[in-house]
Amino acid sequence: MLKKKLYLLLLVFVLIFTFTGCSNTSNVQESSKTAQTHKANDSMRQQANTEGNNQTSVSGKLTVSFIDVGQGDSELIQTPSGKTMLIDAGIPEMGSKVADYIKNRGVSRIDVLVATHPHNDHIGGIPAVISNFDIGKFYIPKVTTNTKAFENVLIAAKNKGISINVAKAGVTLDLGSDIKAEMIAPNSLHYDKLNNYSAVIKITYKNTSFLFTGDAEGESEQEMLNKNYDLKADVLKVGHHGSRTASTLPFLKAVSPKYAVISCGKNNDYGHPHKVTMGKLKNAGITVYRTDECGTIVAVSDGNNINFNVNPGDYKYGSQY
Ligand SMILES: [Zn+2]
Repeated sequence: MLKKKLYLLLLVFVLIFTFTGCSNTSNVQESSKTAQTHKANDSMRQQANTEGNNQTSVSGKLTVSFIDVGQGDSELIQTPSGKTMLIDAGIPEMGSKVADYIKNRGVSRIDVLVATHPHNDHIGGIPAVISNFDIGKFYIPKVTTNTKAFENVLIAAKNKGISINVAKAGVTLDLGSDIKAEMIAPNSLHYDKLNNYSAVIKITYKNTSFLFTGDAEGESEQEMLNKNYDLKADVLKVGHHGSRTASTLPFLKAVSPKYAVISCGKNNDYGHPHKVTMGKLKNAGITVYRTDECGTIVAVSDGNNINFNVNPGDYKYGSQY
């Protein structure tokens, strides 16, 4: 009898933990059934995963929030020593929501702010971030566009007296002594495609690492391979929202991540993530989390293990965009 009870208890645990991943490579195509499963299991997850739901930084841990900004990118990094970095801030309409998310995590200063490249879905929300927080160092790659979004970033930085540093391979970022943070792209001065100017950042905390690729495409990926950077990372923020123009096989092989995060909007105009990319990730056995399915995704590293928590609080905005 006791054995039977123990068996049932074990079964319940197995069921709960089977559902904690919002999406994995077996779900190449989203279905309403899986969406419902996410919803039904949200409360279970929120009870089971307390760390990622904390609204302040978790001491001794590296916390990475892949903020749901619909079709766009925005990642908040909080280090064990309390330093913060924000990479991108989505489209202009997302700026205040990104700022709210950051404030709700108890952050008032962004030590390192990076605009990976001057596309609207990455830099649009940056002016709102600049006006809401103390900013330490601000990085943009050396390329200009004549868009309103880019102009607004320059105006916001000027109004606050923030100088702009060039984002390029070889730049090291100060995120505290326990974190190694380095830019490994862009490696050239000129590209045909704006996406390839994307700042690519690798962060290492003890035995765990994250690679943030912005919208870097195949050309930049090949350059990173040619430069023999140590690309290996546990978590890959998949390049260019899962587009077929990024995530080339040699690059994926070099990174060899356990987890991949795709930041994209539900039913976006570009068909991101592309099926061919999802197929590559699936074939490599990589667990995939998508903001269009999960909302905001929070990864917490203790230096040895990384736990993923989805839907922290109510930070699910993307479905509107
Ligand atoms: Zn983009």
